[in-house]
Amino acid sequence: MLQYLVILLDDTSVAYCHADNPLKERNLMSLETLRKAILFGMKENLMIQYVYPDYELPDEYNEVIESIDHVKIGREVEVYNEIPKSFTAENVVLRLSIADFIAKQYDIVAVLPQAKRLNICITDVENFKDEQIEGYKKALMTLNAVLLNQYKAGKQPQVNILTDRLQLDKMHNCGAGVNNITVAPNGKFYLCPAFYYDERMGVNNRMNHHRPASDYSVGDLDSGVQIPNRQLLKLDHAPLCRICDAYQCKRCVWLNQRLTWDNNTPSHQQCIIAHLERNATRELQKQLQTAGFTFDNQIKEITYLDPFEVREEF
Ligand code: SF4
Repeated sequence: MLQYLVILLDDTSVAYCHADNPLKERNLMSLETLRKAILFGMKENLMIQYVYPDYELPDEYNEVIESIDHVKIGREVEVYNEIPKSFTAENVVLRLSIADFIAKQYDIVAVLPQAKRLNICITDVENFKDEQIEGYKKALMTLNAVLLNQYKAGKQPQVNILTDRLQLDKMHNCGAGVNNITVAPNGKFYLCPAFYYDERMGVNNRMNHHRPASDYSVGDLDSGVQIPNRQLLKLDHAPLCRICDAYQCKRCVWLNQRLTWDNNTPSHQQCIIAHLERNATRELQKQLQTAGFTFDNQIKEITYLDPFEVREEF
């Protein structure tokens, strides 16, 4: 069931997840479309998430925007593509390449305690190489050490890739097309902003049985959300993911399509990264338990990093 409506206010709205936004020309959503999107959200009882460009919007937009409860991504949720000296927001998205995440782990350590929630997002999952496993693991352990000290000091900052799994006892993934949907400045729906970027850029290097190449819209504000084969986005139709316990994994359907040409088949890279995080959380959990913290769900030891390679064990 849909719970969130992501409203891309402009073509240049900030990229806040795996996909970069390649669109550089401003194209502000019309006020009429914005009003329609808000009305859609109200009728469907959806929480609105506005995604902002880096310029100030005209006053008449602000009035409409404030007419409904919402979150502002790119404003109250700050998004960085490099590690800043400090954060001003409590909720921060840090988008980094794998190489930068590993190389700049101590810069992250320096700012980590400043945010209540730090969402680290790897921007080049497709480039992850098995040779980087040790480096990624070590960087996660470096962050774990800070988290442990913070917990001991009575603070509990969240780092999505490390602390979310401490609390989760079932999948909590991105949910694009399942619990959230994106409306773009053209008034059309997309599973997430990345599909809109691909359409605008004419990317057509993947399977698309229903529509001409590089049309990735799934309905519009007039006709509603129309997702072909919607069941394929769901966990119970994802043979690997439904038996996996890397519950914090994003299960990014855009990455799936891009790397395996299949919405519900994950790439080796995505699974390896998610399992390194899951295992690092297990280490953090053990250290926190030694320090006296208790948890309802115990993260068990496993012997694989990619469920695909051991699927017969399940
Ligand atoms: S780690 Fe792989 S199998 Fe597990 S949820 Fe993520 S994408 Fe699915």
